[in-house]
Amino acid sequence: MAGIVIAGAGQAGVECAFGLRAAGYAGEVTLIGAEPGLPGQRPPLSKSYLKSRGTEAPLPFRGAALYDRQRIGFLAGCALRGIDRGARRLALSDGRALDYDRLVLATGARNRVLPLPGFGPGEVLGLRDLADADMLIARLPGLRRLAVIGAGFIGLEVAAALAGSGIAVTVLEAGPRVMARAVSAEVSAWFERLHRGMGTDLRLGVEVARREPGAVVLADGTRIAADAVLVAAGVVPDTNLAAAAGLATGNGILTDDLHRSSDPAIFAIGDVAMAPNRWAADPVRLESVANATEQARRVAAHLAGKPVPDPAVPWFWSHQGAGRLQMAGLARPQDASRVIEDTGEVLVVERHRGGRLVALETVNALRLHMAARKAIAPERVPA
Ligand code: FAD
Repeated sequence: MAGIVIAGAGQAGVECAFGLRAAGYAGEVTLIGAEPGLPGQRPPLSKSYLKSRGTEAPLPFRGAALYDRQRIGFLAGCALRGIDRGARRLALSDGRALDYDRLVLATGARNRVLPLPGFGPGEVLGLRDLADADMLIARLPGLRRLAVIGAGFIGLEVAAALAGSGIAVTVLEAGPRVMARAVSAEVSAWFERLHRGMGTDLRLGVEVARREPGAVVLADGTRIAADAVLVAAGVVPDTNLAAAAGLATGNGILTDDLHRSSDPAIFAIGDVAMAPNRWAADPVRLESVANATEQARRVAAHLAGKPVPDPAVPWFWSHQGAGRLQMAGLARPQDASRVIEDTGEVLVVERHRGGRLVALETVNALRLHMAARKAIAPERVPA
């Protein structure tokens, strides 16, 4: 029997492999991952790992012995290259072919590349995996000025991790406020104050045009001195393999409620998947640990023939200096916001749509966040 093959050994893939065993699946499980070594968490890479200059290494999800004990065949440094859906056979980067009964695609997303002069591969830094983090850390000694493109979570976490280090960080953001896709204007303003207070030169509403030796040049001709540039301008889902195999794709691999793609033998989970979500009117592609973990557990239960757990309220966190941001629920930028508490240190903002509470954003208020994860009702009535 060919068993279940999981492509992508990140948050979702590893959780799915071990989740299959936890759910009692006894068949063959093979996990293939393009990165070398044992898979580990990404969130510390832009936080404690960077702040400690690589000394506080993120722990692997599971130790090597556990893969053997749980009979999970793990192929590290091996990428999926092609899917023959008719034969249920996969082509791997090491030349091998691998048969599957069920395939789970958990290939994540990759950093968006800016099509600008001087921003090609090797010319700028990015931060997605351990190798990226090590490359950034290796550049830090002697670095005087770093330009970060993008004031999203990762760009701001990097700025916070480097604050006070003697490296002058300039964050360049095209939008009018930080983290604008994800949080209310009130939370953006709180973090803008925080970062400016930590000494970060935060420039909003600016358009990057090109790179010149020692500088990033804006569309209006302004030169921002920078010895190195980190691009943190979002990610794009890795849909090429799925699309080449004829699976339905959009902003991610399209799936149903049970995370099945347009081929019922193939599932997609994590950052790569676009799925219906009870807390959103339309299918969404979420980039979070909570989402990857939950989708992995649901698919594992389904494939093991066990009851599939109900989805939980989506949630997310980001740590930036003294700001511990937590979000429960799914808000859209146009949703109304209502400030519930603002002490300077603590900020709590409700997000409303059509008179309903759809999300709670908290800064330094963990208990309220935990309560909100139980309280926010689904937007869609479960099928
Ligand atoms: P990934 O974890 O990216 O795993 C996908 C894996 O698939 C990768 O290892 C990739 O190499 C591999 N792969 C790709 N193509 C192939 C192929 N063809 N064959 C085999 N393998 C392949 N989320 C939070 O909720 N909170 C945070 O604070 C937070 N901080 C973050 C900080 C950083 C620096 C980063 C990069 C992400 C952060 N995230 C955070 C997001 C979170 O880590 C992701 O949402 C999560 O890792 C998604 O899991 P995934 O398994 O879908 O993708």
